[in-house]
Amino acid sequence: MKPCIILLGPPGSGKGSQTEKLKSFLGFQTVSTGDLVRSQIKGQTSIGLEIEPFLKEGRLVPDELIVQLFKEWIKDNQDAKGFILDGFPRTLEQAYIFNKDIVGKFNLKVQVIYLEVSVDLLISRMLTRLICNKCKAVYNTTSKPPKHLNQCDECGEALERRQDDNPETIVTRNKEYMSLTAPLVEFFLENLVTINGDQDSEKVFSDIMKGLNNGNLN
Ligand code: AMP
Repeated sequence: MKPCIILLGPPGSGKGSQTEKLKSFLGFQTVSTGDLVRSQIKGQTSIGLEIEPFLKEGRLVPDELIVQLFKEWIKDNQDAKGFILDGFPRTLEQAYIFNKDIVGKFNLKVQVIYLEVSVDLLISRMLTRLICNKCKAVYNTTSKPPKHLNQCDECGEALERRQDDNPETIVTRNKEYMSLTAPLVEFFLENLVTINGDQDSEKVFSDIMKGLNNGNLN
C-alpha cells in the first residue's frame, strides 16, 4: 500500500510549511489544492474563471471542480512512492468521494494529521505571512522573517502576501472551515493524530513524525 498523509487544519495552521518539511524528509509527492486553484486562476482557464470569485471571497470552491482537479493530479502522479495532501479533502462530500473513488484505486494507506491551533494565533499568522511563489517556502514577518527583505532564502525569488490573507477574507475562510471542514476530524477519527500546532514549526514537525511512526507509516 502507498502511504497518503492528509494534513487537516484551519487556514493558517501551518499545513503548507509542514507539507514542505515532510516532502523533503519523506520524498513523497505533495499537492496543495489551493495551489492547483491559484494556478488555474493565473492561467485564466475556464475552471479558473469559474472559481476565482470563490477564492477572492474566501469561500470553498464547489466540490465537483476541486475533485476534478485533484483526480487529474493524482492520476498524473500515481507513480509516486507516497502522497502528502495539503487542503484536500476539505468537505464531507470530498471525503466520501476520496474514500469511494481514490483510496482503493490507488491502494492508499491513509493517515490524517490534524493541526490544532488557537484562533488568535491563526489570524496573526495569516496577517504576517509571506510566501515564495516559486518554491512555496513560507515565511512570517515576526516569527520567521527572510534574511533579506521580501526575498526567499531558498531560491532568491520575491516573496508575496497571499491575496486572500486580508482581514475580511480571513473571517470568511475561518467560518467556512468551522462549518464545512471541521466535521472531517470526526470522519477520519480512526486514522487521525492530533498535533498541537501552537508550538514552533520544528516541534510540530517532530510531533508529526512521531505520530506517523505510531501509525507505522514509514
Ligand atoms: P489554501 O491555499 O489551502 O488556503 O486554499 C485557498 C483557497 O482555495 C480556499 O480558500 C478555497 O477557496 C480553495 N480551495 C483549496 N482547496 C479546496 C478544497 N479542497 N475544496 C474547496 N476549495 C478549496
